[in-house]
Amino acid sequence: MRSLVLAALIAAQNPVMAQTRAELTRFEETSRYEEVRAFLDALVPTGRVRVESFGRSEEGRELPVAIIGSPPAAARPPRATSVPVVLVLANIHAGEVEGKEASLHLMRRMVSGDLQPLLGQAAWLFAPIYNADGNERISLENRVEQYGPIGGVGTRENANGLDLNRDFMKLDSAEGRALAALLARWDPDVVVDLHTTNGSYHGYHLTYAPSLNPNTDPALIAFARERLLPAVRQAMTSRHALRTYSYGNFATTTAMDAELLEFGATVSGVGAASSTGAASSGGAGTGDRVWRTFDHRPRFGTTYVGLRNRIAILSEAYSYLDFAGRVRVTEAFVEEIMRYVAGNAADITRLTGQADAATVAGLTEQGVSFALAPSAPAEILVGAVEKKTNPRSGREMIAMIEQRAVPTAMQEFGAFAVTQTRRVPSAYVVPARADNVHRTIAERLRSHGIAVRETTVPSPQDVDRFIVNAVQRAERPFQKRQETRVTGTWERATVMLPPGSLVVSTQQPLGRLVFYLLEPESDDGLGTWDILGPAVTAGTAHPVLKAR
Ligand SMILES: [Zn+2]
Repeated sequence: MRSLVLAALIAAQNPVMAQTRAELTRFEETSRYEEVRAFLDALVPTGRVRVESFGRSEEGRELPVAIIGSPPAAARPPRATSVPVVLVLANIHAGEVEGKEASLHLMRRMVSGDLQPLLGQAAWLFAPIYNADGNERISLENRVEQYGPIGGVGTRENANGLDLNRDFMKLDSAEGRALAALLARWDPDVVVDLHTTNGSYHGYHLTYAPSLNPNTDPALIAFARERLLPAVRQAMTSRHALRTYSYGNFATTTAMDAELLEFGATVSGVGAASSTGAASSGGAGTGDRVWRTFDHRPRFGTTYVGLRNRIAILSEAYSYLDFAGRVRVTEAFVEEIMRYVAGNAADITRLTGQADAATVAGLTEQGVSFALAPSAPAEILVGAVEKKTNPRSGREMIAMIEQRAVPTAMQEFGAFAVTQTRRVPSAYVVPARADNVHRTIAERLRSHGIAVRETTVPSPQDVDRFIVNAVQRAERPFQKRQETRVTGTWERATVMLPPGSLVVSTQQPLGRLVFYLLEPESDDGLGTWDILGPAVTAGTAHPVLKAR
Protein backbone atom coordinates (compact mmCIF):
# COMPACT_ATOMS: atom_id res chain seq x y z
CA MET A 1 0.00 0.00 0.00
CA ARG A 2 1.03 3.61 -0.48
CA SER A 3 2.78 5.21 2.42
CA LEU A 4 0.54 7.05 4.84
CA VAL A 5 3.31 9.58 5.30
CA LEU A 6 3.05 10.38 1.60
CA ALA A 7 -0.71 10.66 1.87
CA ALA A 8 -0.31 13.09 4.76
CA LEU A 9 2.19 15.18 2.74
CA ILE A 10 -0.21 15.42 -0.17
CA ALA A 11 -2.95 16.30 2.28
CA ALA A 12 -0.90 19.13 3.77
CA GLN A 13 -1.01 20.84 0.37
CA ASN A 14 -4.54 19.93 -0.52
CA PRO A 15 -6.91 18.50 2.10
CA VAL A 16 -9.18 17.08 -0.58
CA MET A 17 -6.36 14.61 -1.30
CA ALA A 18 -6.28 13.22 2.26
CA GLN A 19 -7.20 9.56 2.08
CA THR A 20 -8.26 6.98 4.61
CA ARG A 21 -6.52 3.67 5.06
CA ALA A 22 -9.68 2.08 3.68
CA GLU A 23 -9.22 4.00 0.43
CA LEU A 24 -5.46 3.49 0.31
CA THR A 25 -5.88 -0.30 0.64
CA ARG A 26 -8.85 -0.65 -1.72
CA PHE A 27 -11.04 -1.32 1.29
CA GLU A 28 -9.01 -4.29 2.49
CA GLU A 29 -8.10 -2.58 5.77
CA THR A 30 -9.51 -0.06 8.20
CA SER A 31 -7.90 3.04 9.72
CA ARG A 32 -5.81 2.85 12.85
CA TYR A 33 -6.06 5.42 15.62
CA GLU A 34 -2.97 7.40 14.57
CA GLU A 35 -4.19 7.46 10.97
CA VAL A 36 -7.53 8.91 12.04
CA ARG A 37 -5.67 11.59 13.98
CA ALA A 38 -3.43 12.33 10.97
CA PHE A 39 -6.44 12.54 8.65
CA LEU A 40 -8.17 15.02 10.96
CA ASP A 41 -4.97 17.08 11.30
CA ALA A 42 -4.73 17.22 7.51
CA LEU A 43 -8.13 18.94 7.36
CA VAL A 44 -7.28 21.62 9.95
CA PRO A 45 -5.37 24.01 7.61
CA THR A 46 -8.62 24.68 5.72
CA GLY A 47 -9.76 26.73 8.72
CA ARG A 48 -13.01 24.78 8.67
CA VAL A 49 -12.12 22.11 11.20
CA ARG A 50 -11.17 22.34 14.83
CA VAL A 51 -10.09 19.11 16.53
CA GLU A 52 -10.58 18.79 20.28
CA SER A 53 -10.24 15.96 22.74
CA PHE A 54 -13.40 15.19 24.69
CA GLY A 55 -11.67 12.89 27.14
CA ARG A 56 -9.41 9.90 27.34
CA SER A 57 -10.00 6.22 26.80
CA GLU A 58 -9.30 3.64 29.52
CA GLU A 59 -5.82 3.25 28.04
CA GLY A 60 -5.24 7.00 27.94
CA ARG A 61 -5.86 7.74 24.25
CA GLU A 62 -7.29 11.19 23.57
CA LEU A 63 -10.79 10.87 22.12
CA PRO A 64 -11.00 13.27 19.17
CA VAL A 65 -14.06 15.26 18.22
CA ALA A 66 -13.87 17.36 15.05
CA ILE A 67 -16.02 20.47 14.89
CA ILE A 68 -16.76 21.46 11.29
CA GLY A 69 -18.00 24.84 10.12
CA SER A 70 -16.97 28.00 8.35
CA PRO A 71 -15.48 28.90 10.78
CA PRO A 72 -16.12 25.96 13.16
CA ALA A 73 -18.28 26.93 16.13
CA ALA A 74 -16.28 27.65 19.29
CA ALA A 75 -19.17 26.69 21.57
CA ARG A 76 -22.73 25.48 21.38
CA PRO A 77 -24.92 27.97 19.48
CA PRO A 78 -27.52 29.50 21.84
CA ARG A 79 -30.89 27.72 21.90
CA ALA A 80 -32.56 30.93 20.79
CA THR A 81 -31.03 30.55 17.32
CA SER A 82 -32.16 28.07 14.73
CA VAL A 83 -28.67 26.64 14.28
CA PRO A 84 -28.81 23.00 15.38
CA VAL A 85 -25.89 20.96 16.68
CA VAL A 86 -25.36 17.54 15.13
CA LEU A 87 -23.07 14.83 16.50
CA VAL A 88 -22.02 11.86 14.37
CA LEU A 89 -20.64 9.10 16.61
CA ALA A 90 -18.69 6.26 15.02
CA ASN A 91 -16.83 3.13 16.12
CA ILE A 92 -18.60 2.67 19.47
CA HIS A 93 -18.23 -1.01 18.57
CA ALA A 94 -14.75 -1.14 17.12
CA GLY A 95 -15.48 -4.20 15.00
CA GLU A 96 -18.08 -2.12 13.15
CA VAL A 97 -15.65 0.16 11.37
CA GLU A 98 -17.40 1.64 8.32
CA GLY A 99 -18.83 4.55 10.30
CA LYS A 100 -15.28 5.64 11.14
CA GLU A 101 -14.24 5.68 7.48
CA ALA A 102 -17.53 7.22 6.33
CA SER A 103 -17.23 10.08 8.84
CA LEU A 104 -13.73 10.91 7.61
CA HIS A 105 -14.96 10.93 4.01
CA LEU A 106 -17.89 13.17 4.92
CA MET A 107 -15.65 15.64 6.74
CA ARG A 108 -13.39 15.84 3.70
CA ARG A 109 -16.38 16.52 1.44
CA MET A 110 -17.60 19.21 3.84
CA VAL A 111 -14.35 21.16 4.06
CA SER A 112 -13.33 20.99 0.41
CA GLY A 113 -15.84 19.01 -1.60
CA ASP A 114 -19.47 18.84 -2.65
CA LEU A 115 -20.91 19.18 0.88
CA GLN A 116 -19.50 22.67 1.50
CA PRO A 117 -23.00 24.22 1.24
CA LEU A 118 -23.85 22.44 4.54
CA LEU A 119 -21.05 24.17 6.44
CA GLY A 120 -22.97 27.11 7.87
CA GLN A 121 -26.26 25.30 8.42
CA ALA A 122 -25.41 23.57 11.70
CA ALA A 123 -22.55 23.03 14.10
CA TRP A 124 -21.33 19.65 12.87
CA LEU A 125 -19.47 17.42 15.30
CA PHE A 126 -17.82 14.14 14.40
CA ALA A 127 -16.39 11.69 16.93
CA PRO A 128 -15.01 9.17 14.42
CA ILE A 129 -13.22 6.75 16.75
CA TYR A 130 -15.13 6.63 20.04
CA ASN A 131 -13.93 3.17 21.08
CA ALA A 132 -10.30 4.02 20.34
CA ASP A 133 -8.82 1.22 22.46
CA GLY A 134 -11.03 -1.42 20.87
CA ASN A 135 -9.98 -0.14 17.44
CA GLU A 136 -6.32 -0.78 18.21
CA ARG A 137 -7.03 -4.45 18.91
CA ILE A 138 -7.48 -5.18 15.21
CA SER A 139 -7.36 -8.92 14.56
CA LEU A 140 -8.49 -11.46 11.97
CA GLU A 141 -10.28 -13.20 14.85
CA ASN A 142 -12.85 -10.41 15.36
CA ARG A 143 -16.21 -10.55 13.54
CA VAL A 144 -14.90 -13.31 11.29
CA GLU A 145 -18.15 -13.73 9.30
CA GLN A 146 -18.49 -10.02 8.48
CA TYR A 147 -17.81 -9.40 4.78
CA GLY A 148 -14.55 -7.48 5.23
CA PRO A 149 -12.39 -5.60 5.69
CA ILE A 150 -10.30 -8.72 5.13
CA GLY A 151 -7.41 -7.21 7.12
CA GLY A 152 -9.46 -7.49 10.30
CA VAL A 153 -11.29 -5.18 12.69
CA GLY A 154 -11.14 -4.17 16.35
CA THR A 155 -13.08 -5.50 19.31
CA ARG A 156 -16.64 -4.74 20.32
CA GLU A 157 -15.66 -3.89 23.91
CA ASN A 158 -13.35 -1.24 25.31
CA ALA A 159 -10.01 -2.09 26.95
CA ASN A 160 -11.84 -2.93 30.16
CA GLY A 161 -14.14 -5.46 28.50
CA LEU A 162 -17.20 -3.19 28.61
CA ASP A 163 -19.68 -2.71 25.77
CA LEU A 164 -19.91 1.08 25.45
CA ASN A 165 -23.37 0.74 23.96
CA ARG A 166 -24.66 -0.74 27.22
CA ASP A 167 -22.97 1.88 29.37
CA PHE A 168 -25.05 4.99 28.78
CA MET A 169 -26.99 4.82 32.04
CA LYS A 170 -24.40 3.45 34.47
CA LEU A 171 -21.38 5.26 32.96
CA ASP A 172 -18.82 2.78 34.28
CA SER A 173 -16.34 3.45 31.45
CA ALA A 174 -13.97 6.38 31.00
CA GLU A 175 -15.31 6.68 27.46
CA GLY A 176 -18.93 6.75 28.61
CA ARG A 177 -18.27 9.52 31.11
CA ALA A 178 -16.35 11.49 28.47
CA LEU A 179 -19.20 11.16 25.99
CA ALA A 180 -21.84 12.16 28.55
CA ALA A 181 -19.76 15.27 29.30
CA LEU A 182 -19.57 16.02 25.56
CA LEU A 183 -23.36 15.67 25.30
CA ALA A 184 -23.82 17.96 28.29
CA ARG A 185 -21.40 20.58 26.90
CA TRP A 186 -22.52 20.67 23.25
CA ASP A 187 -26.05 19.39 23.80
CA PRO A 188 -26.47 18.17 20.20
CA ASP A 189 -30.02 18.38 18.82
CA VAL A 190 -29.37 15.34 16.64
CA VAL A 191 -27.07 12.38 17.32
CA VAL A 192 -26.31 9.71 14.72
CA ASP A 193 -24.73 6.49 16.04
CA LEU A 194 -23.03 4.27 13.45
CA HIS A 195 -23.02 0.46 13.66
CA THR A 196 -23.04 -2.78 11.65
CA THR A 197 -25.67 -5.52 12.00
CA ASN A 198 -25.05 -8.93 13.54
CA GLY A 199 -28.18 -10.88 12.83
CA SER A 200 -30.70 -11.83 10.19
CA TYR A 201 -30.20 -12.26 6.44
CA HIS A 202 -32.38 -9.43 5.23
CA GLY A 203 -32.39 -7.58 1.92
CA TYR A 204 -31.43 -4.05 3.01
CA HIS A 205 -28.13 -2.24 2.66
CA LEU A 206 -28.74 -0.45 5.93
CA THR A 207 -31.35 -0.45 8.67
CA TYR A 208 -32.08 2.31 11.16
CA ALA A 209 -33.96 3.08 14.36
CA PRO A 210 -35.05 6.17 16.26
CA SER A 211 -35.04 6.38 20.07
CA LEU A 212 -37.18 3.48 21.24
CA ASN A 213 -38.28 4.31 24.78
CA PRO A 214 -41.91 5.52 25.07
CA ASN A 215 -40.88 7.86 27.92
CA THR A 216 -39.28 10.06 25.26
CA ASP A 217 -41.01 13.34 24.37
CA PRO A 218 -43.82 12.27 21.97
CA ALA A 219 -43.20 15.12 19.50
CA LEU A 220 -39.57 14.08 19.14
CA ILE A 221 -40.56 10.45 18.55
CA ALA A 222 -43.11 11.51 15.94
CA PHE A 223 -40.64 13.80 14.18
CA ALA A 224 -38.03 11.06 13.83
CA ARG A 225 -40.46 8.27 12.90
CA GLU A 226 -42.88 10.12 10.67
CA ARG A 227 -40.81 12.85 9.09
CA LEU A 228 -37.04 12.53 9.25
CA LEU A 229 -36.61 8.78 8.68
CA PRO A 230 -39.16 8.42 5.85
CA ALA A 231 -37.59 11.43 4.06
CA VAL A 232 -34.10 10.02 4.44
CA ARG A 233 -35.25 6.58 3.29
CA GLN A 234 -36.80 8.15 0.19
CA ALA A 235 -33.58 10.02 -0.55
CA MET A 236 -31.56 6.82 -0.11
CA THR A 237 -33.70 5.22 -2.82
CA SER A 238 -33.91 8.11 -5.24
CA ARG A 239 -30.44 9.62 -4.94
CA HIS A 240 -28.33 6.56 -4.09
CA ALA A 241 -30.36 3.52 -5.23
CA LEU A 242 -29.81 1.94 -1.80
CA ARG A 243 -32.36 -0.08 0.17
CA THR A 244 -33.00 0.96 3.77
CA TYR A 245 -35.67 0.22 6.36
CA SER A 246 -36.39 0.17 10.10
CA TYR A 247 -33.95 -2.01 12.02
CA GLY A 248 -35.11 -5.50 12.86
CA ASN A 249 -34.37 -9.17 13.00
CA PHE A 250 -36.51 -12.10 11.99
CA ALA A 251 -38.11 -13.78 14.96
CA THR A 252 -41.08 -16.02 15.54
CA THR A 253 -44.01 -15.05 17.68
CA THR A 254 -43.40 -18.20 19.76
CA ALA A 255 -39.79 -17.23 20.47
CA MET A 256 -40.83 -13.70 21.29
CA ASP A 257 -43.48 -14.86 23.73
CA ALA A 258 -40.89 -16.92 25.58
CA GLU A 259 -38.48 -14.02 25.62
CA LEU A 260 -41.08 -11.56 26.84
CA LEU A 261 -42.55 -13.73 29.57
CA GLU A 262 -40.15 -12.38 32.14
CA PHE A 263 -41.42 -8.89 31.37
CA GLY A 264 -44.93 -10.06 32.13
CA ALA A 265 -46.07 -9.60 28.55
CA THR A 266 -46.45 -11.65 25.41
CA VAL A 267 -46.55 -10.70 21.78
CA SER A 268 -49.98 -12.17 21.33
CA GLY A 269 -51.07 -10.42 24.52
CA VAL A 270 -49.81 -7.10 23.21
CA GLY A 271 -51.56 -7.65 19.91
CA ALA A 272 -54.85 -8.52 21.53
CA ALA A 273 -54.63 -5.50 23.81
CA SER A 274 -53.73 -3.15 20.99
CA SER A 275 -56.37 -0.70 19.88
CA THR A 276 -55.05 -0.97 16.32
CA GLY A 277 -55.74 -4.70 16.40
CA ALA A 278 -52.87 -5.14 13.93
CA ALA A 279 -51.59 -8.41 15.36
CA SER A 280 -54.99 -9.94 15.94
CA SER A 281 -56.25 -9.11 12.46
CA GLY A 282 -54.40 -12.00 10.92
CA GLY A 283 -50.85 -10.60 10.92
CA ALA A 284 -49.08 -12.81 13.41
CA GLY A 285 -50.37 -16.12 14.61
CA THR A 286 -48.23 -18.19 16.93
CA GLY A 287 -45.02 -19.35 15.25
CA ASP A 288 -45.24 -16.90 12.36
CA ARG A 289 -42.17 -15.03 11.25
CA VAL A 290 -42.10 -11.41 12.34
CA TRP A 291 -39.72 -8.43 12.01
CA ARG A 292 -38.67 -7.35 15.48
CA THR A 293 -36.74 -4.29 16.62
CA PHE A 294 -34.27 -4.55 19.50
CA ASP A 295 -34.70 -3.02 22.96
CA HIS A 296 -36.43 -0.13 24.69
CA ARG A 297 -33.84 0.47 27.40
CA PRO A 298 -31.67 3.62 27.50
CA ARG A 299 -28.47 1.70 28.14
CA PHE A 300 -28.42 1.91 24.33
CA GLY A 301 -27.07 5.27 23.16
CA THR A 302 -29.74 6.35 20.72
CA THR A 303 -32.51 5.64 23.21
CA TYR A 304 -30.53 7.39 25.95
CA VAL A 305 -30.26 10.52 23.80
CA GLY A 306 -34.05 10.46 23.42
CA LEU A 307 -34.44 10.71 27.20
CA ARG A 308 -32.21 13.79 27.03
CA ASN A 309 -34.92 15.40 24.84
CA ARG A 310 -32.85 15.11 21.70
CA ILE A 311 -33.25 13.31 18.37
CA ALA A 312 -31.12 10.23 17.79
CA ILE A 313 -30.78 7.86 14.87
CA LEU A 314 -29.20 4.41 14.99
CA SER A 315 -27.53 3.38 11.72
CA GLU A 316 -26.84 -0.30 11.10
CA ALA A 317 -24.98 -1.06 7.88
CA TYR A 318 -25.62 -4.63 6.74
CA SER A 319 -22.81 -6.87 7.95
CA TYR A 320 -22.87 -9.06 4.80
CA LEU A 321 -22.56 -6.18 2.35
CA ASP A 322 -18.91 -5.82 1.34
CA PHE A 323 -16.83 -3.29 3.27
CA ALA A 324 -16.66 -0.69 0.49
CA GLY A 325 -20.43 -0.96 0.11
CA ARG A 326 -20.96 -0.54 3.85
CA VAL A 327 -18.80 2.60 3.91
CA ARG A 328 -20.75 3.91 0.92
CA VAL A 329 -24.20 3.25 2.38
CA THR A 330 -23.26 4.64 5.79
CA GLU A 331 -21.78 7.74 4.17
CA ALA A 332 -24.91 8.23 2.06
CA PHE A 333 -27.20 7.72 5.05
CA VAL A 334 -25.41 10.28 7.20
CA GLU A 335 -25.22 12.68 4.25
CA GLU A 336 -28.99 12.47 3.78
CA ILE A 337 -29.62 13.00 7.51
CA MET A 338 -27.36 16.05 7.33
CA ARG A 339 -29.24 17.42 4.34
CA TYR A 340 -32.55 16.87 6.10
CA VAL A 341 -31.35 18.57 9.28
CA ALA A 342 -30.03 21.52 7.27
CA GLY A 343 -33.37 21.85 5.48
CA ASN A 344 -35.40 21.60 8.69
CA ALA A 345 -33.10 23.36 11.13
CA ALA A 346 -35.67 25.72 12.61
CA ASP A 347 -38.19 22.90 13.19
CA ILE A 348 -35.56 20.80 14.92
CA THR A 349 -34.32 23.46 17.33
CA ARG A 350 -37.91 24.46 18.08
CA LEU A 351 -38.86 20.83 18.85
CA THR A 352 -35.90 20.17 21.13
CA GLY A 353 -36.48 23.49 22.89
CA GLN A 354 -40.15 22.64 23.38
CA ALA A 355 -39.26 19.20 24.73
CA ASP A 356 -37.06 20.88 27.35
CA ALA A 357 -39.79 23.38 28.22
CA ALA A 358 -42.38 20.61 28.62
CA THR A 359 -40.05 18.68 30.94
CA VAL A 360 -39.24 21.76 33.03
CA ALA A 361 -42.98 22.51 33.32
CA GLY A 362 -43.36 19.10 34.98
CA LEU A 363 -44.20 15.57 33.92
CA THR A 364 -47.01 13.65 35.57
CA GLU A 365 -46.43 9.98 34.74
CA GLN A 366 -43.68 7.93 33.07
CA GLY A 367 -43.41 4.24 32.26
CA VAL A 368 -41.53 1.66 34.33
CA SER A 369 -42.38 -1.38 32.25
CA PHE A 370 -42.75 -1.75 28.52
CA ALA A 371 -43.65 -4.29 25.88
CA LEU A 372 -43.20 -4.58 22.15
CA ALA A 373 -46.08 -3.12 20.19
CA PRO A 374 -47.21 -4.22 16.74
CA SER A 375 -46.72 -1.75 13.90
CA ALA A 376 -48.75 -1.82 10.71
CA PRO A 377 -48.21 -5.06 8.74
CA ALA A 378 -45.20 -4.62 6.50
CA GLU A 379 -43.42 -6.05 3.50
CA ILE A 380 -39.92 -6.95 4.65
CA LEU A 381 -37.13 -7.79 2.23
CA VAL A 382 -35.84 -11.29 2.91
CA GLY A 383 -32.28 -11.66 1.64
CA ALA A 384 -29.88 -14.40 0.65
CA VAL A 385 -26.18 -14.94 1.32
CA GLU A 386 -23.25 -17.01 0.13
CA LYS A 387 -19.91 -18.02 1.61
CA LYS A 388 -16.63 -16.35 0.65
CA THR A 389 -13.15 -17.11 1.85
CA ASN A 390 -11.09 -14.38 3.50
CA PRO A 391 -7.72 -14.67 1.68
CA ARG A 392 -5.86 -13.31 4.71
CA SER A 393 -7.27 -15.70 7.30
CA GLY A 394 -8.60 -18.59 5.23
CA ARG A 395 -11.83 -18.33 7.24
CA GLU A 396 -15.33 -18.13 5.79
CA MET A 397 -17.12 -14.82 5.48
CA ILE A 398 -20.80 -14.37 4.66
CA ALA A 399 -21.65 -12.25 1.62
CA MET A 400 -24.96 -10.68 0.65
CA ILE A 401 -26.37 -11.72 -2.74
CA GLU A 402 -27.40 -8.18 -3.50
CA GLN A 403 -29.93 -8.83 -6.26
CA ARG A 404 -31.85 -11.37 -4.14
CA ALA A 405 -34.28 -9.51 -1.91
CA VAL A 406 -37.78 -10.91 -1.72
CA PRO A 407 -40.58 -8.69 -0.36
CA THR A 408 -42.41 -10.81 2.23
CA ALA A 409 -45.50 -9.79 4.17
CA MET A 410 -45.13 -10.13 7.91
CA GLN A 411 -46.02 -8.47 11.15
CA GLU A 412 -43.56 -5.82 12.27
CA PHE A 413 -42.82 -5.01 15.90
CA GLY A 414 -40.95 -1.75 15.57
CA ALA A 415 -41.92 0.13 18.71
CA PHE A 416 -42.68 -0.30 22.39
CA ALA A 417 -45.65 0.64 24.53
CA VAL A 418 -45.83 1.45 28.23
CA THR A 419 -47.46 -1.29 30.29
CA GLN A 420 -47.08 0.28 33.75
CA THR A 421 -46.52 3.87 34.86
CA ARG A 422 -45.45 5.62 38.02
CA ARG A 423 -45.98 9.17 39.29
CA VAL A 424 -43.19 11.62 38.47
CA PRO A 425 -42.45 13.62 41.64
CA SER A 426 -41.32 17.24 41.44
CA ALA A 427 -38.08 15.96 42.96
CA TYR A 428 -36.42 12.80 44.21
CA VAL A 429 -34.78 13.07 47.61
CA VAL A 430 -32.00 10.88 48.96
CA PRO A 431 -31.31 11.30 52.66
CA ALA A 432 -27.60 11.52 53.53
CA ARG A 433 -26.46 8.10 54.73
CA ALA A 434 -23.59 6.67 56.73
CA ASP A 435 -22.78 4.28 53.85
CA ASN A 436 -22.38 7.27 51.48
CA VAL A 437 -24.66 5.80 48.82
CA HIS A 438 -26.08 9.32 48.40
CA ARG A 439 -22.62 10.50 47.32
CA THR A 440 -22.37 7.70 44.77
CA ILE A 441 -25.78 8.68 43.41
CA ALA A 442 -24.83 12.38 43.21
CA GLU A 443 -21.61 11.59 41.38
CA ARG A 444 -23.35 9.37 38.79
CA LEU A 445 -26.11 11.91 38.19
CA ARG A 446 -23.62 14.76 37.75
CA SER A 447 -21.70 12.69 35.21
CA HIS A 448 -24.85 12.92 33.05
CA GLY A 449 -25.00 16.69 33.50
CA ILE A 450 -27.98 16.46 35.90
CA ALA A 451 -28.32 19.26 38.47
CA VAL A 452 -28.24 17.93 42.04
CA ARG A 453 -28.81 20.10 45.13
CA GLU A 454 -27.54 19.20 48.58
CA THR A 455 -29.39 20.33 51.72
CA THR A 456 -27.53 22.34 54.34
CA VAL A 457 -29.89 22.25 57.32
CA PRO A 458 -32.03 19.43 58.76
CA SER A 459 -35.50 19.59 57.25
CA PRO A 460 -38.66 17.48 57.34
CA GLN A 461 -39.97 16.18 54.02
CA ASP A 462 -43.25 14.51 53.04
CA VAL A 463 -42.44 11.62 50.72
CA ASP A 464 -43.60 8.49 49.00
CA ARG A 465 -41.22 5.72 49.87
CA PHE A 466 -40.85 2.26 48.38
CA ILE A 467 -40.76 -0.57 50.90
CA VAL A 468 -38.74 -3.32 49.25
CA ASN A 469 -40.33 -6.77 49.57
CA ALA A 470 -37.88 -8.68 47.42
CA VAL A 471 -34.57 -8.04 45.68
CA GLN A 472 -33.73 -10.22 42.72
CA ARG A 473 -30.08 -10.06 41.64
CA ALA A 474 -29.10 -11.82 38.41
CA GLU A 475 -27.01 -14.92 39.06
CA ARG A 476 -24.57 -14.15 36.30
CA PRO A 477 -22.92 -10.76 35.91
CA PHE A 478 -23.67 -8.70 32.81
CA GLN A 479 -21.18 -5.96 31.92
CA LYS A 480 -19.41 -6.80 35.21
CA ARG A 481 -22.50 -5.99 37.26
CA GLN A 482 -25.40 -7.95 38.67
CA GLU A 483 -28.62 -6.64 37.25
CA THR A 484 -31.16 -6.15 40.01
CA ARG A 485 -34.92 -5.91 40.17
CA VAL A 486 -37.04 -4.99 43.14
CA THR A 487 -40.65 -5.51 44.07
CA GLY A 488 -42.41 -3.76 46.89
CA THR A 489 -45.12 -1.37 47.94
CA TRP A 490 -45.43 2.38 48.17
CA GLU A 491 -46.32 4.22 51.35
CA ARG A 492 -46.50 7.83 52.49
CA ALA A 493 -44.21 9.09 55.20
CA THR A 494 -42.58 12.16 56.65
CA VAL A 495 -38.82 11.86 56.99
CA MET A 496 -36.15 14.14 58.45
CA LEU A 497 -33.48 14.95 55.86
CA PRO A 498 -30.07 15.42 57.45
CA PRO A 499 -27.75 18.07 55.98
CA GLY A 500 -26.02 16.80 52.85
CA SER A 501 -29.16 15.03 51.59
CA LEU A 502 -29.80 15.17 47.83
CA VAL A 503 -32.69 16.93 46.16
CA VAL A 504 -32.91 16.13 42.45
CA SER A 505 -35.56 18.11 40.62
CA THR A 506 -37.33 16.44 37.73
CA GLN A 507 -38.26 19.91 36.49
CA GLN A 508 -34.97 20.36 34.68
CA PRO A 509 -34.26 19.65 30.99
CA LEU A 510 -32.92 16.19 31.89
CA GLY A 511 -36.00 15.39 34.02
CA ARG A 512 -36.94 12.32 31.96
CA LEU A 513 -33.47 10.93 32.51
CA VAL A 514 -33.70 11.71 36.25
CA PHE A 515 -36.85 9.61 36.44
CA TYR A 516 -35.31 6.68 34.59
CA LEU A 517 -32.12 6.70 36.67
CA LEU A 518 -33.75 7.10 40.09
CA GLU A 519 -37.26 5.62 40.05
CA PRO A 520 -36.97 2.52 42.30
CA GLU A 521 -38.85 0.27 39.87
CA SER A 522 -37.01 1.52 36.76
CA ASP A 523 -35.72 -1.25 34.51
CA ASP A 524 -32.48 0.58 33.62
CA GLY A 525 -31.70 2.86 36.54
CA LEU A 526 -28.88 3.07 39.05
CA GLY A 527 -30.65 0.36 41.06
CA THR A 528 -30.90 -1.93 38.04
CA TRP A 529 -27.12 -1.92 37.76
CA ASP A 530 -26.72 -2.63 41.49
CA ILE A 531 -24.92 0.69 41.95
CA LEU A 532 -26.91 1.18 45.16
CA GLY A 533 -25.60 -2.14 46.51
CA PRO A 534 -26.77 -3.35 49.94
CA ALA A 535 -28.66 -0.06 50.45
CA VAL A 536 -31.42 -1.89 48.59
CA THR A 537 -32.46 -4.67 50.96
CA ALA A 538 -35.73 -6.53 51.43
CA GLY A 539 -37.75 -5.29 54.36
CA THR A 540 -36.37 -1.74 54.27
CA ALA A 541 -37.23 1.48 52.49
CA HIS A 542 -35.51 2.12 49.15
CA PRO A 543 -32.84 4.86 49.59
CA VAL A 544 -34.42 7.03 46.86
CA LEU A 545 -37.60 8.80 48.02
CA LYS A 546 -40.16 10.81 46.07
CA ALA A 547 -41.15 14.28 47.28
CA ARG A 548 -44.85 14.90 47.77
ZN1 LIG B 1 -22.90 -2.11 17.11
